[in-house]
Parts: sequence; structure tokens; C-alpha cells
Amino acid sequence: MFNFYNQKTVEFAKKLKLNNLYPFFRSISGSEATSVKLDGKEMVMIGSNNYLGLTHHPHVVEKTIKAVEKYGTGCTGSRFLNGSLDLHAELEERMAKYLGHEAAICFSTGMQTNLGAISALCGPRDLIIGDSENHASIIDGTRLSFANVVKYRHNDMENLEELLSDNKEKYKNIFIITDGVFSMTGSLANLPKITELAEKYGAFVYLDDAHGIGVMGDSGRGTMHHFGVTDKITANMGTFSKSFACIGGVLSGSEEVINYVKHTARSFMFSASMPPSATATVLGCLDVIQKEPEIFDRLWKNVAFMRKGFEDLGFYTYGSKTPIIPILVGDDTRAMEVAMELHNRGVFATPVISPAVPKHEALIRTSYMATHKREELEKVLNVFEDLKKVMTFPSIQQ
Ligand code: PMP
Repeated sequence: MFNFYNQKTVEFAKKLKLNNLYPFFRSISGSEATSVKLDGKEMVMIGSNNYLGLTHHPHVVEKTIKAVEKYGTGCTGSRFLNGSLDLHAELEERMAKYLGHEAAICFSTGMQTNLGAISALCGPRDLIIGDSENHASIIDGTRLSFANVVKYRHNDMENLEELLSDNKEKYKNIFIITDGVFSMTGSLANLPKITELAEKYGAFVYLDDAHGIGVMGDSGRGTMHHFGVTDKITANMGTFSKSFACIGGVLSGSEEVINYVKHTARSFMFSASMPPSATATVLGCLDVIQKEPEIFDRLWKNVAFMRKGFEDLGFYTYGSKTPIIPILVGDDTRAMEVAMELHNRGVFATPVISPAVPKHEALIRTSYMATHKREELEKVLNVFEDLKKVMTFPSIQQ
């Protein structure tokens, strides 16, 4: 038998299945974004990244269908060769304007954006200093770059400064790489301090704003806009698999940086381009963001309602200031139990366990959309209140 490296994970999954505690790969048979159907049962969805709820917006859907009718279902090749459409050019131009950088380039997924852009921009004589809770796609991008890598403790600016100071002048370039909004706990990177330190030590900042784009800052232009540091970010990455309601990724920066990535990023050059459907979906989302700015008020009202609701019930929510509201559970297996209890009571939320979060800090990741109805949110709070009567939840981080 082939000797698998990570058999422990598979054994853990097997054990969970045997105990009816396996909340993964659940098949959704119908969706209206805020509510989904599973096994014929309606459930409130609080486990997605569809922050603006645009997957079902009539304008977005119509624009997507029209693109399929005009261009077909796929581009069947790389942007570099036969896979470039006028739609891609329009999207890159509009994304650059929206994000407030000179230029932008679109990849087929967010993961591919990080793999391609980080490995293109960083090399063996460089140092990458990354937050310890950075997303897996950043980690893999740094591996592909052959750069030297060190981590600073999550959001610990003193630790970051120590590493910058210890390593200055030892490398060709130093890159600080961080998520803007951390995907599991919803915490924000301290971009004002990070960009200040980058300037002080001559480092560059690469920002993964997968959960910030479409959410943070005015018109959802991202975490760098939220903090007013757009011109201090060398490369800003976003994904279309969350607020932009489909799939794809974007990198924005100066003309020089984007042109360099365009001609050297392997995941861009050697992989097929975003399909016409997804490209049109993102363009449709940009239209809605422009024409219906009230969507952001609705999102933040829902977020405030849920944050207060959970806090009033005594749940620990990590002080989240974003649409991601984590609920601390503690033990990994307990997080599965909570997710399954929620499932049985008509709420779809996802457990997050180690190594995605530190050991004994397993959580239920909940997230909210601009389109959630008040009744749906009240139902979620009622279910959590009921659960609290039968299960214990830590009220502070240990
Ligand atoms: N970066 C972060 C922070 C993410 O959360 C994700 C997706 N979960 C990605 C990158 C990858 O994006 P995609 O799903 O578009 O590949």
C-alpha cells in the first residue's frame, strides 16, 4: 500500500463520520444565497463568503447569462495565448480604478493569484516576513518563490519590527505579506503600523485582501482604503470567490509591477483564463456596487445586529469588526458537535479547527450578508441561545 504522509487526518475524518460528526462536503441542492436546501430541508446560510449576497442579484445573473450566450462557456486557453477577451480587459481596467492602483491583472482563482504573484515577485535572495495566521495560498506562494521565510506572531507589531531590524540589509528585497481581513477570526491587519514599518526598513507590502475587497473601506474598495494606505501597498490581491459572487482573483499595483507579473507569473501564463461567465459576473457586481451603494449599509446593519446579539448572549466573538463573526468553542471535536447541532436545527455554519486556528481555539465561523433577512438572523440567534442551554461555550479566550 502507498505510504500516505498525512494518514492522521484521514483517520480523524473516518472517526468523525462513524460518530455522525462530519460537517464537511455537505451537498446543497438549491440556493437563494441566505437560505439553502439540503436533503429537502431549508437552512439559514451563515457559512459562506457571499458578503454582498450578489450571487443571486438579477442584474448580475442577467449579465452572466448574456456573456455565456455571446462568448460561450469557456476560453479554453491562457490569457497569454488564445484566452483573452475584451471582457477581461474591461474588468482589469475597472478593477484598477476601483482598487485605486495604476493597473490590475485577473487570475482564474485567488489561490492562483497568490501562487503566481508571490512566486513571480519574490526570489531566492529575498526575505518574506509573514503573519503567522496567513492563508494557505500565501504559504504555498512563498514556497514556490524559493525566498527565505520567517513568521511574526499574529498581528504582533513588535515582533515584526524585531524581524525587520534583524534582517535589514541581508537580502535583496524584504516583503511583508499579510491578510487584510483574517479569514477565520475576521481580525484586521494593523496596516497603518505595517506600512510605517515597511517604510522605515525599506520593505515592500503584499496584501491578501480576499475578505476585505467588496467589504471594507468606501464602496468595499478594501482594507488598504479602510486604513487610507493604498499608495503604500506594493501589491494588493483580492478574490472574486467571495463578495464578487463567482470565482477568479485580482492583483493590483503599479503598471511596472503588474506588467512584470503578467509576463512572469506561471499560474497566470500556464493556466486557462477566467471564463466569460465569471468575468461578466464580476463586472455585474461592480455595476451593482456603483448603482446601489445602500448595499453596504445593509451589510453593516446586519453585522452590527449579529455582533450585539451574540455578545448579549455571552458568546466570545474575538471583538470582530468585520462580517466574519467567530464563536469560540475551544475543543476540535466540540466544534464538530456544535456544527452538527446547528445543522440539525436548520443553520449552516462551519467549524474551524487546528491547524487553521491554534490548538484549543476551535471555533464556529459565522459570516453575514447584506441580503440576510432580519427573521433569518433572529432564527440564528435563537438557535445559538438554545444551544447554550445544553452545551458550554467559553466566554473568554483561554
Ligand atoms: N486568500 C484568502 C485569505 C482566502 O481566504 C482565500 C479563500 N478562502 C484565498 C486567498 C483563495 O481564494 P480562492 O477561493 O479565490 O482561490
